[in-house]
Amino acid sequence: MIYKTYKPIDSVGRIVIPKDFRDAVGFKEFEDLLIEVEDGKIVLSKAELNCVFCGKTSGLRSYMGKTVCENCVKALNS
Ligand SMILES: [Zn+2]
Repeated sequence: MIYKTYKPIDSVGRIVIPKDFRDAVGFKEFEDLLIEVEDGKIVLSKAELNCVFCGKTSGLRSYMGKTVCENCVKALNS
């Protein structure tokens, strides 16, 4: 299914993503989104958290302001 609509951008740059659009791609309330500019288009996607060193997506924690897995934290501390 193709979704298309027109929305105004408010004075501080916000737009409302319609609920049926959010549901169609699985965006949930309070979930972080990744915002990128690609080829002149703004692209929104789910922010997938992963370890900045190895890419692992589980066992994550914040370490010195970065998302890092437990194994990499151990490696950094050894
Ligand atoms: Zn890691």
